[in-house]
Amino acid sequence: MPSITISDMRVAYNNGKTLALSDFNLRIEDGEFCVLLGPSGCGKTTVLHCIAGLIKPDSGEIRIGENVVTSAEKRVFLRPQERNIAMVFQEYALYPNMTVRGNLSFALETMNKARSEIQAKVEQTAQMLGIEGLLDRKPAELSGGQRQRVALGRALVRDPQVFLLDEPLGNLDAKLRDQVRYELRKLQLSLGVTTVYVTHDQTEAMTLADRIVLMKDGRVLQEGTPRELYSEPKNLFVAGFVGTPQINLTRCSVRRQADGSGLLLSSNCLSLPVPQKTAACLLASGRDEVIVGIRPADFQIARESGPFSLDGRVEVVEPLGDAVLVYLAIGEHMMVAKLTEMAEDEVGASLSLTVDPARIHIFDPVTEERIG
Ligand code: ADP
Ligand code: MG
Repeated sequence: MPSITISDMRVAYNNGKTLALSDFNLRIEDGEFCVLLGPSGCGKTTVLHCIAGLIKPDSGEIRIGENVVTSAEKRVFLRPQERNIAMVFQEYALYPNMTVRGNLSFALETMNKARSEIQAKVEQTAQMLGIEGLLDRKPAELSGGQRQRVALGRALVRDPQVFLLDEPLGNLDAKLRDQVRYELRKLQLSLGVTTVYVTHDQTEAMTLADRIVLMKDGRVLQEGTPRELYSEPKNLFVAGFVGTPQINLTRCSVRRQADGSGLLLSSNCLSLPVPQKTAACLLASGRDEVIVGIRPADFQIARESGPFSLDGRVEVVEPLGDAVLVYLAIGEHMMVAKLTEMAEDEVGASLSLTVDPARIHIFDPVTEERIG
């Protein structure tokens, strides 16, 4: 399976008035499951359409494997059907008058394959997706999840080298989404197809991706494994976009500890020593105020209040089954903690939390970039 390389791509709509992508660079390794993640309007679909050959960028180059498929400079632009890609959209338009079998075989028939070969391929694909019992039904006689599987099958039946998916689970209810998501991942692992998957849903991205490319305003803000984005977000936007519930953010001042031993972050809701490894970067930044981020899952219950504990009042407890979300009011501030050991009904009670200072995230309030 081929890699995909996008170099210096620029796309503008409306006669150049809407810049959808600028200086866009991306490499997707062969067989990789790459997720483009970002808020609505950040340019995800535009990237996918460029790879598919549905949009001709104003500048830049796209290679699939060693093959240049798009190049503004070299005046190369392969048609979609010359690219050996398959695409699945959120609105998976199946042919309503054809059976599932007809929907699956249609693309192969247009490729002039032998009837027996088509039949074998359709059966094989249907089996892979668990829809072999539905081959003689029409789309109207299928559930949403079954229709989505047919749409995937229609894309896969052609043995594409590259699989492009644009929010393909958006129309499914939550439970079905989990199931199809899991099946999709299993399928991709077994086929090894280079896959680019677009979503605005960070949970979907975290669970599916080998690598996440987080986009905003037509640019890549950070790319990395789900774990890297979660534990080392490069800036405030990434920190806030990845992880649920959202990271807690609070503005703190930077001070020297009274005994001169190091730096202290403090605000009206917390006081924390700065870990040694970050202290130098923090000093170098020259900021006396920073934004501190704490992931809800990084809190622990403190046995008692101490100099570095966060002491507040439990406002709301949301049971998740294996953990609870606790909304803790600390003065004017609200912190969310995800805790695994918490008595059921503690609303109104006082609670002290601690966090390992090594796990906090520090951001520059002006550039919004990570410090340390
Ligand atoms: P996403 O898929 O991340 O929601 P898109 O790639 O669809 O983002 O859009 C990126 C930007 O380009 C948005 O500002 C959108 O409004 C604009 N855009 C997309 N398609 C068109 C179009 N056909 N004409 C004009 N503007 C468009
Ligand atoms: Mg889109």
